[in-house]
Amino acid sequence: MIRVLFATSEVYPLVKTGGLADVSASLPEALCRLEYDVQILLPGYPDAVKAARKAGSRRKARFQLGQYNVSLWQTRLPGTAVTLWLVDCPPLFDRPGDPYKNEEGKDWWDNAHRFELFGKVGAMIAMGEAGLTWRPDLVHCNDWQTGLIPVFLEAYQDRPGTVFTIHNLAYQGLFSHETFRALGLPDSLWSLEQLEFYGQLSFIKGGLVFSDRITTVSPTYAREIQSPEFGSGLDGLLRHRQHALSGILNGIDTRVWNPAEDPELAFHYGRDHLKNKAQCQANLQQELGLEVNGGPLLGFIGRLVDQKGVDWMLSVMPALLEQGCQFVILGSGEDRYEEPLKQLARTWPGQMSLTLGYNEGLSHRITAGCDLFLMPSRFEPCGLNQMYSLRYGTIPVVHGVGGLADTVQDPQDVGIDKANGFVFTGASAESLLATVNRALQVFDKRKQWRRLQENGMAIDYSWKQRARTYGDLYQGILKDRDQQQLD
Ligand code: ADP
Repeated sequence: MIRVLFATSEVYPLVKTGGLADVSASLPEALCRLEYDVQILLPGYPDAVKAARKAGSRRKARFQLGQYNVSLWQTRLPGTAVTLWLVDCPPLFDRPGDPYKNEEGKDWWDNAHRFELFGKVGAMIAMGEAGLTWRPDLVHCNDWQTGLIPVFLEAYQDRPGTVFTIHNLAYQGLFSHETFRALGLPDSLWSLEQLEFYGQLSFIKGGLVFSDRITTVSPTYAREIQSPEFGSGLDGLLRHRQHALSGILNGIDTRVWNPAEDPELAFHYGRDHLKNKAQCQANLQQELGLEVNGGPLLGFIGRLVDQKGVDWMLSVMPALLEQGCQFVILGSGEDRYEEPLKQLARTWPGQMSLTLGYNEGLSHRITAGCDLFLMPSRFEPCGLNQMYSLRYGTIPVVHGVGGLADTVQDPQDVGIDKANGFVFTGASAESLLATVNRALQVFDKRKQWRRLQENGMAIDYSWKQRARTYGDLYQGILKDRDQQQLD
């Protein structure tokens, strides 16, 4: 049985700021079902340590790392049989709220130190130096917070295999040269070919340069990030490593996201009994103080940041509201998007609802209750919300980039019999508006709309097949390493 240490800075339901948390829970679980021994490594955030203590979990190791006392707690990911290791180091991780930011929304001043220590502990476990009886054959790193693990492992001939997954290339873990020095990393790492990035220390480069393989979360994004437009300055490096790079589409947790059983919904439905979806819509409209009128109801859930195309959405909303569309928006983010959304909600009471903040239950009810779901992202590594929507018979309107292009098919491209949503390709508000209007025309043709819903609901979005692809990748890495050791 292949043993894998899955290092991540977020995992649902313990700590979540985005899609990384969902993937970090459901992929290891799917791999465990395929008989891989995948164990998760997570920083010991207070809620996670509290949950572990409550579950009667045990401290399995204790050691000193520089000035810090570190303990490793062994517990289980809630509701699963997956082993979870918590790196307990209170001065670095015992902080409330967001895992990366303080209460004012500013990055913690010592994030580099926090995730360097996390990386060191990951490397110690990988080399059997942390005092555990378990040692992995392979370390699966995720995003910049884990980027130093492959760097630390590079020093060892008999290290495990390494794979680094990019969930979002825009977040790179960049720090000053002084921070590089303060971390005490060897001077030899300060070069263009290693961790230096335009005069800064780049954690993500650790993963991209030193891992055996690199993956990202959709085939289209894997191609896009090799171009200057989507490469965030790292496209050259990614082209250089193109033979080690592949895209594997994310799956979703089809038990958490199932309209036939979702505990967040008062009414349930499925592909062959869609009638109750209208009840879910009426309930949502009532809950949010909107007029109960049969729609069209358009939804958006997500971080209110530049990536998500909120400015394009803001520019098309007045015209669509004028036309009688309703909007439900759930999210939080930058003031420059929150303020105009608040203004619109004040101007259009009964027709537009805005909920600022994070609300898991409401996100399920919006996904079920809307007719259309907007994802006008400028770039989107994979995107999960469009898959949740498709599974709930809610038709996505998306920008044709990254994982959105890989999961949504437009009637103009594949015909209504095969389509499941609407895709715009011009990167502009005009293009978004034209495509929403095209969708609204089909909304009025009930039979065609139903066809789109059924097509989307018929697709298998589960991890089963996708986890197998990761399994094949793991086996390929281990085979290559055996070969290298023979050579
Ligand atoms: P990203 O990781 O870029 O934020 P994804 O679409 O990959 O985007 O994943 C976002 C995840 O976070 C989804 O599960 C989405 O439903 C959830 N989410 C985002 N914002 C909110 C919110 N305000 N309330 C509830 N869930 C949210």
